[in-house]
Formats: sequence, structure tokens, C-alpha cells
Amino acid sequence: MLYDRILVKYGELTLKGKNKASFINQTIRTIKEKCKKFEKLEYINNFERFYIILNGEDYEKVTEALNNVFGLHSYSLTAKCESNLEAIKDLAKKVVETEIKVKTTFKVETNRVDKNFPMTSLEVSKVVASHVLKNSPHLIVNVRNPEITLKVEIRSNGTYIMTKEIIGLGGLPVGMDGKGILMLSGGIDSPVAGFFIQKRGVSIDMLHFSSPPYTSDRSKQKVFDLTEKLAKYAPKNRIRVFNIPFTKLQKAIYDNCPESYNITIMRRMMYRIAEKVAKKNKAVIIINGENVGQVASQTLQSMYVINNVTSMPIIRPVATMDKIEIIKIAKKIETYDISIRPYEDCCTIFVPKHPVTKPELDKCIEYENNFDYEAYITECIENIEVIDVNAGNPPKIVSSSDIGSLF
Ligand code: ATP
Ligand code: MG
Repeated sequence: MLYDRILVKYGELTLKGKNKASFINQTIRTIKEKCKKFEKLEYINNFERFYIILNGEDYEKVTEALNNVFGLHSYSLTAKCESNLEAIKDLAKKVVETEIKVKTTFKVETNRVDKNFPMTSLEVSKVVASHVLKNSPHLIVNVRNPEITLKVEIRSNGTYIMTKEIIGLGGLPVGMDGKGILMLSGGIDSPVAGFFIQKRGVSIDMLHFSSPPYTSDRSKQKVFDLTEKLAKYAPKNRIRVFNIPFTKLQKAIYDNCPESYNITIMRRMMYRIAEKVAKKNKAVIIINGENVGQVASQTLQSMYVINNVTSMPIIRPVATMDKIEIIKIAKKIETYDISIRPYEDCCTIFVPKHPVTKPELDKCIEYENNFDYEAYITECIENIEVIDVNAGNPPKIVSSSDIGSLF
């Protein structure tokens, strides 16, 4: 096995001043959780650096797991040998043979941490570079601007050689900054919002509104499949889904309010319910996939009027992105193909012919006074379904007795 360990570099964490320790600890906890299945791994944490000792585990599989951890700037596969020149030359040659197969410019950079080593850093770099070049004629030395740098670090307990730096997801470790409720539809935007909010260290529960029998189990399944794709970033690989049966409330809106205001008032109801679910579940923000100007309910005036029902912060991670940019991310996080499956959404069933684009707050309040919407909201919450979704597993329904303790 060529690689002995992986050197992990934290991202933005290093900027966090006094909180640095807790950010690092949360990242390490997440790494250990994601790598739990690799039983032989050992971890060395000396604060500035974090090493994962492979002990024969497959480095490609381990790096795949690291690709789901927010908070990592990069990681480097590292080979180790004894600190003597022959061993270093030999290992450098092997690393280059494994990693560099095409014509590339390169240089060797040595850091002699062990000052008892009998040669200077520059001397080691020169000797190693000429040894590697002799065996790999496709390499060209370029010390100013090389495509690849072979790093040699000489320490008293051994010499570490690394070349490949894999760029991680960046961001902050999930769970670091509390919890939010993500309004998850079956569309393209809200799963991308879920990716971005987790990237900022926020853990999420999902809230979905369904309108049976107008929406089918297929649309619910979509929501579970989307959640499954996002669960791999959660610290325990699990995200909870709250499903709200929304039909009765929607019909009441339809029966009691002018058609052009249906969507505006429906969305005000969604926010009211989201706030209640959030408060019961220790969440302090609501997140959604709203995007400025995308549809009638997302004009600035609509956003103002809809937002007015809650004082809870609403974070809209994709608010200012173009659809093309959102789609690019959706493809990268593998939610796009699920999102474009044909389905019915609760928003698409009672769509007015001419939705108002500049709704007025006074009118919303007046129309809402036509019926006892609070009773409908209470009924929605009473009939909530709770489903836990684990990455790589089918969804699991939480029994109604357990839900009782949540609400
Ligand atoms: P698209 O990607 O096609 O725009 P969307 O999911 O963004 O789909 P919109 O009608 O633009 O749909 O809704 C804006 C936001 O409102 C969504 O991103 C989502 O956060 C929330 N939302 C809409 N419908 C639902 C629903 N049925 N359940 C939960 N949240 C919803
Ligand atoms: Mg949208």
C-alpha cells in the first residue's frame, strides 16, 4: 500500500478565533462518523494538522467519504518512509509513477523539520528531483510555476511525501450553527438551497406540504429521494422529514378568498406552519428555494407580503442565482434527475389563472379573516407525518406515539 495516511486541512475554520477549537472538533467528529465503516483507520490530531492513518484501508473509498464533509479545505494523500536519502528517493519515484502519467511540469519542495538530517532542504530537493526525472522522462522541471509539486517533509519519526491535493467541499461543519427548517418541494431549487445551507454549518429538518389525493405517493417519494441525496452531508447521515397534509386548508383558501390571492395566502399559511414546526423542533430559521422574480409569488412585493406572517429569519440561499447556475449545482449534487421527474405539487393544483404579482398586505389580512384559518393550521399539525431518511437506506416512518412527544 503506497499511501500511509491522509493529511486533512481545514478551510475557513482557521478564521474563527476563539471558536476555532469547537469548529475543529465538530469537523473531526463528522469525519469520524463518515469514516466509521473503515474500522482500521486511526486518527492523529495535533490541532494544526489532522491525519487519518489508513492502516491498509482503501484510500479511494476513504476520500470518497471525505467528499461529503463540509469544513474541509483540502486533503492530501501522504506516503511515508524512513528518513534516509535512499528511502526518500525510492518512495518519491513510486509516488510519481502512481500519480503522474502524462506530460507535466513539476518541482520538488523539501521541508527539513528534523534539523539533524545531514543535508539541506535544497540539496534534498535537487537529488530527489534528478532521481525522479531519470525514471520519468515525461516530467519537466519548472520551479517557478509547476503544475505539480512533490512535497517532502523530513521529520525525526519518518519522511512524508505527498503530491496530490484534493480540494474538499469547504464551508463549515454541519451542526455547528444550530438548526433550520427547509421547505422542500419536489422542484429543482429547494434541494440546492438545502445543500448551501448545510454548507454554512446549519443542520436541517425538511418540511413538505402535500395535497392528497391531488398529489400522489410518487411526489412524496420524490421528496424522500431528494432528502436522501442531502442526508449524506448531515453529521449522522440522517435528515428528518415532516409531511403536512395541506388539502383541507388549501380548499378553505379556495372557498373563502379571491382566486388571484390563492397562492399568496397559501404561501402565508406555509410560513405560519413552518414557524410552528420550527419552534417545536428547536429550529431558529426557515430556509427555502425562493428565487427573486422567478414566479408571481416571488416578486419583491409578494415576498414582502408573504414574509410578513413571521419574524423568524427566512434564508433563501438561491435567491439571486440564475436558473442555469442552480441547475448546474443540482446536477453536481445529484438531485436534478430526481427533481425533473414528472409530479404534481401542492402549489400546482389550485393555480389561479391570473395570480396577483403585487399583492397588498391589507387585502391578505381581510381575506384571511373570512375563515378560521388557525383551526385548519392546528389540524395540519395534528396530522403531520414524520419520516426519517438515512443516506443509502429507504425512509423510515416515525410512529405516531413518538410524534406525540414532538408536538
Ligand atoms: P422550481 O425548482 O420548479 O422553481 P420550486 O420547488 O422552487 O420549484 P416554487 O413554486 O418556486 O417551487 O416554490 C418556491 C419555494 O417554496 C420552494 O423552493 C420551496 O422552498 C417552497 N415550496 C414550494 N412548494 C412546496 C411544498 N409543496 N412543500 C414545501 N415547500 C414548498
Ligand atoms: Mg422555484
